[in-house]
Amino acid sequence: MQTQTTEAKTEIKSIDCSHYINGKYAPSKNGKTFENINPATEEKLGVVAAGSKEEVDQAVSAARKALKGEWANLPLRKRSAIIRKIGDLILERKEELATLESLDTGKPLWLSNSVDIDRAAYNFHFFADFMTSVGNETYQQDDIAVHYAVRRPVGVVGLINPWNLPLLLMTWKLAPALAAGNTVVMKPSEVTPMTATVLAQICSDAGVPDGVVNMVHGFGETGAALTSHPDVDAIAFTGETVTGSEIMKSAAPTLKKLSFELGGKNPNIIFADTDLDDTIETTIKSSFINQGEVCLCGSRIYVERAIYDAFLERFVARTKELKVGNPFEETTNIGALVSEEHYKKVLRYLDIAKEEGATFLTGGTASEGFEKGFFVDPTIITGLGKDSRCVREEIFGPVVTVIPFDTEEEVLEQVNGTHYGLSASLWTSDIKRAHRVGGQIEAGMVWINTWFLRDLRTPFGGMKHSGIGREGGAHSFDFYSELTNITVKL
Ligand code: NAD
Repeated sequence: MQTQTTEAKTEIKSIDCSHYINGKYAPSKNGKTFENINPATEEKLGVVAAGSKEEVDQAVSAARKALKGEWANLPLRKRSAIIRKIGDLILERKEELATLESLDTGKPLWLSNSVDIDRAAYNFHFFADFMTSVGNETYQQDDIAVHYAVRRPVGVVGLINPWNLPLLLMTWKLAPALAAGNTVVMKPSEVTPMTATVLAQICSDAGVPDGVVNMVHGFGETGAALTSHPDVDAIAFTGETVTGSEIMKSAAPTLKKLSFELGGKNPNIIFADTDLDDTIETTIKSSFINQGEVCLCGSRIYVERAIYDAFLERFVARTKELKVGNPFEETTNIGALVSEEHYKKVLRYLDIAKEEGATFLTGGTASEGFEKGFFVDPTIITGLGKDSRCVREEIFGPVVTVIPFDTEEEVLEQVNGTHYGLSASLWTSDIKRAHRVGGQIEAGMVWINTWFLRDLRTPFGGMKHSGIGREGGAHSFDFYSELTNITVKL
C-alpha cells in the first residue's frame, strides 16, 4: 500500500495560543500549557495556554469592567462600523485563517476557504447591518397608557464552542453579542484553538476597546469555571448534549441565561418522486462534507422502497469516487478527523455496527495508505434497524445508515423516534407532501429538496435534546439583550 503525504503545502505557520485578557495576550499564571496536534500528520502544531479558574476570574473581571466603559454606549453607527471592520479584517487575513483552520481541524483547505472563513466574516457583516434596524415593541393601551420596551446588553457573556467549525461558530455568537453591546469571554475548543486566538487580535485591530473581548483557553474545567462564575450573566454554548446538561447544572446556582446548540442525528427522507440526480449530489454533501463533522449532517437516510436499490447503487458509486487525503490538496474531498480521541470514537461505532449485524456498502474502516493521521473512509451502512445504536446515537463522522420505508406514517415514526431534533432534509416533488411531512418532523430546521441553505435572519437551533433557544437575526438579538418595559400613564 502506498503511503500518502499529508504535509501542509503552505508558508503559513501554526501558532502557539495564549489567553487574551483585557487587550493583551497572556500565558497562564502557573505556566501550564498543553500540546496542539495536527490531526492529519500527528505532529505538534504548538502549545496552548491551559486556563485555570484564575485566568477565568481575570477575564470575567476585565469583561465586567469594560461593561461600564464606552462599548455599550457607543453610538449605534460607530459600534456597527467596528463590527463591520472585524468582518473586513477576517477577509483580509483569509488565507492565514483558512490555513490555521485546516491545520487545526484536518478539514480540506478549500472548505475552510469557501465555508468557514467567508461565513465568519459574513456573521459580522450581517449583524453590523442587522443591529441598525432592530426595533422595540410599543403598545398603546386605549387612552390609559403607552408601553414601550427598551433594550440593554445582558452583560458578560461566556461563549463556549466546539471544534468542528471553530471560527464560524465562535463568530456566530461573538458578532451578535457585540452588536447588542455585551462584553464576552470566549472559550474555544481545546482541540482547535488557533483561529480564535487570531480573532482576538482582529477585534482589537478593528477598534474593539480592551476588555470587551477576552478569551481563555483550556479544557472542560476551564469552561466549567466560566459557567459557574457568579459574574457571568449568560452562556451561549455549542457542543455535545451531555455537556449542555452539565452546563445547565453548573449554571443553575447563579441562574444564568442559557442558549444551547447541541447534538443531532438528523434524518434525510427521500421519496420515490424525487429528482434523483439532485438528491444524490446533495446527499453526498450532507453525509460526508467536513468528514461528516457538521451538526447538521444527515446521518440517517430513509429511502422509499421503490427507489431504494437505485438510490443505493448511485449513492455508493458516487461515494467511492470521494478522495480521502491531505487537507492541503485541492482534489481532497474528505480530510482527517479532528483528533485521535474522536477518531477512536468513530472507529468504535464502526465496531458496534459490525456487532449489530451491519452491511458496509463502502468504508467501515480507517483509511489505508496513511502512515500518520486520523483518516476514516466514507461509510454507508445498511441492514440496521431503528433500535441500533448506530441509528440512534450521534457518531459525528463520515458514517451514514440507509433504511428503506414504505409509508409516510412509518418514516415519520422512525424520524421522530430519537431524543434529537436538530434538522432534517426531505426530498419529494409533491408539494403537498413536502408541506404535510415537513410540518410533522420534530426538528428545528427542515429543508425541502436542499440541505444547509441558510439565511442568517431565520431561526436556527434544535428542539428536544438538540438545543434550547434559537439563534439568527432577531433571535440572536433577543438572547443577547435584556428588555425593560416602560409604562407611561396618559
Ligand atoms: P463538547 O461538548 O465536548 O465541547 C464543546 C466545548 O465545551 C469545548 O470548548 C469544551 O472544552 C467545553 N466543555 C466541555 N465540558 C465542559 C463543561 N463541563 N463545562 C463547560 N464547558 C465544557 O463538544 P465537541 O466534541 O467539541 O463538539 C461536538 C459536538 O458539538 C457534537 O455533539 C455536535 O453535534 C455539536 N455541535 C452542535 C451544533 C449546533 O448548532 N447544534 C453545531 C456544531 C457542533
